[in-house]
Amino acid sequence: MDKIFVTKSFLPPKAEYDDYIQKIFETHHLTNYGLLEAALQNKLSTYLNTKHICLTANGTLALMIALRHAGLSGKKVITTPFTYVATLSALLWEGCIPIFADIDQNTLCINPKSIKHILIKHPDAAGIVPVHVFGNACDTVGIQAICHKHNLTCIYDAAHAFGATLYNRSLMDYGDFAIGSFHATKLFHTVEGGCIISHTDQDQQNISLHHAFGHIQDDYYTLGINAKLSEIHAAMGLAILPHLPNIIAKRKKICDLYDDLLPLDILKRPHFHDDLDYNYAYYPIQFPDEASLCTVKMALEAHNIFPRRYFYPSLTTLSYLPTISKNCECPIADRTALTSLCLPLYPDLSEEKIKQITSIICAHIHT
Ligand SMILES: *Cc1c(COP(=O)(O)O)cnc(C)c1O
Repeated sequence: MDKIFVTKSFLPPKAEYDDYIQKIFETHHLTNYGLLEAALQNKLSTYLNTKHICLTANGTLALMIALRHAGLSGKKVITTPFTYVATLSALLWEGCIPIFADIDQNTLCINPKSIKHILIKHPDAAGIVPVHVFGNACDTVGIQAICHKHNLTCIYDAAHAFGATLYNRSLMDYGDFAIGSFHATKLFHTVEGGCIISHTDQDQQNISLHHAFGHIQDDYYTLGINAKLSEIHAAMGLAILPHLPNIIAKRKKICDLYDDLLPLDILKRPHFHDDLDYNYAYYPIQFPDEASLCTVKMALEAHNIFPRRYFYPSLTTLSYLPTISKNCECPIADRTALTSLCLPLYPDLSEEKIKQITSIICAHIHT
């Protein structure tokens, strides 16, 4: 019996990918400012309606570079414990001190009230990295007001936000900077890849310099790193991008079917932002308690269905945090991490499978 995982990476028709690969074999241009990278950058700029986008080797390096470019390395930065570990890793790798603010229990995104509270204890925080969790939109208006008042630089982790719009503007376009991830498990991918979105020509130039060793030819400007996206990776992105509207439409159908078939009086769904045009990146559900989550997860696994506990454990519990981060209290995030499960979601997941998944859940949720 085939195993069903939380996601299955989308692959374009092979001929469409081969056309781009053929170009690489003709030009021998494999990486470093190649034609395919430039073409993808152009198309993403149009798709996301954002002028300044730098493509990177992955989303983690994108966040590290954005933090460094914004001058946040080594400083206190407020973030959420309910996210993928990469958000935290990038902060720690840049020597930042992560200060956790709690999440809103309905949206699962960082709660502006908690940010305000944290700032009383940590008025020296220099920046904030909120996460658009599961493609839901943060309270961008509330966060912007706080950033303005406290002079904080805001870098959105928009790794889940591709294709979503908030107030008819790309969700990846908010904040001083935003980073994206094009990892194979994400809605849009280049196998491995990512991006940094900024808002001025100067930012774009400096970020681009950082992602390519900090030099142009024989002129060395700054300490850079290697975070370039190769032509092979760009080819995958170019072949997938035209399928995006179709991918999102199919995901929406699956989510609607889950909505219809699940006992949503017992299982809770996040409240999605009212002005969000959602991308259907994930299908998270909240159990009443951890025990019922484990019962259902085991029952599904017995049928070769493997949902994921996104995001478990709460990042506040990790052993390698500085004490100051460990001491941040985030009861809602900690509880959410214990009770949150993401169900399988990808375009060719069959209706039959969804019915099987939901009936197993229904059979085990009361026990
Ligand atoms: C996937 C992800 C990242 C990191 O992306 P990579 O491209 O895998 O390095 C960062 N933040 C969040 C929330 C993610 O889900």
